[in-house]
Amino acid sequence: MDGEDLLQALHGATEFESVGDAPAQEQAASSLVIPPELKGCVTNVTAGNRKMPVLKAMMTTACERNCLYCPFRTGRSGMRRVTFSPDSMAQGFMALYQAGVVEGLFLSSGVVRGGVTSQDAIIDTGTILREKYGFRGYMHLKVMPGAERDQVRRTMALADRVSVNLEAPNSERLAQIAPVKQFDEELLTRLRWIEDLRREHTGEPVPSSTTEFVVGPAGEPDLEILSTTDYLHRQLGLARAYFSAFKPVIETPLDNYPATDLTRQLRLYQASFLLRDYSFELEELPFTGEGNLPLGIDPKHAWADMNLLHAPLEVNTASRHDLMRIPGIGGKGAARIIAARRKNTLRSLSDLRAAGVANTNRPAPYLLLDGHSPTQQLRLF
Ligand code: SF4
Repeated sequence: MDGEDLLQALHGATEFESVGDAPAQEQAASSLVIPPELKGCVTNVTAGNRKMPVLKAMMTTACERNCLYCPFRTGRSGMRRVTFSPDSMAQGFMALYQAGVVEGLFLSSGVVRGGVTSQDAIIDTGTILREKYGFRGYMHLKVMPGAERDQVRRTMALADRVSVNLEAPNSERLAQIAPVKQFDEELLTRLRWIEDLRREHTGEPVPSSTTEFVVGPAGEPDLEILSTTDYLHRQLGLARAYFSAFKPVIETPLDNYPATDLTRQLRLYQASFLLRDYSFELEELPFTGEGNLPLGIDPKHAWADMNLLHAPLEVNTASRHDLMRIPGIGGKGAARIIAARRKNTLRSLSDLRAAGVANTNRPAPYLLLDGHSPTQQLRLF
């Protein structure tokens, strides 16, 4: 199989998964080699610390399961089904890699003859790429529902990243949208095994792990999704969660269900980063009475309005942890402020800008500079 044959076969089948570290910024790759209509199969993703074009592929777009939201669900006649052997998938990928079209692979699959059989096809493809073709580039491999522990171990030995899509935050919600999937037995247990296996190999390169939630159709509030996400980050070493705003797919049981507002997806990402990178506790997030994040304001800003407007932080003495709670100041900004204030007391917004905080309008209402609020200075600019 050559590269264009593979892209032709995958065309339109792989737009439903998130791959890199910044899914909102994913773009179809701009390689001139790819015909425009096939570019959706190759996505520029941030993976690790760099951007690269990655082929998003599935071993098969057939599936014996019936998840209510999914275009690949069994019996959906409008879906074109394609299936690849491990050899043809590996061959087609290598043709694209050698032509400079892609640098990495994201490989998933529908479930056919059980998750174990489907996982074997993914492992076989990864093994051919690593051993027969000597491919050393980026590989993100999916762990299928029901895969065996030894298969998880073998998948991890091949991959830079592995993922298990939970789809919903708990078993009750999952039952509403994926009647055959078992939350604990088939999915969460695999994420536990991944973390167990990582701990057995401390000091060696081990793949990171991710999951994805379908946001909306199970009626789950943000609190449930973020509670599970927080658990996964803290207890199971999850690198990140993806939040996929539900979009109705024709000829599925949910084709009349309303699409989820994309702003909700954005707020979930923002909140998950506060939990993962900014030391926020779940209880500190500004949930409404229904357990959702407000759509009209980002969660860090909402927290600061409630907690810092009446008690602004002194920039010259605040800890790194506290500085990072100020809107507009992240890890790098906090480090720059701490380095600058070792040399001189920061007294003005221009001192803050000189320290490396590019936009001082956002943090200004929430801080003090040498005991004074800079909001007066702000009005002068
Ligand atoms: S198991 Fe995966 S591919 Fe199959 S219907 Fe469910 S979500 Fe879709």
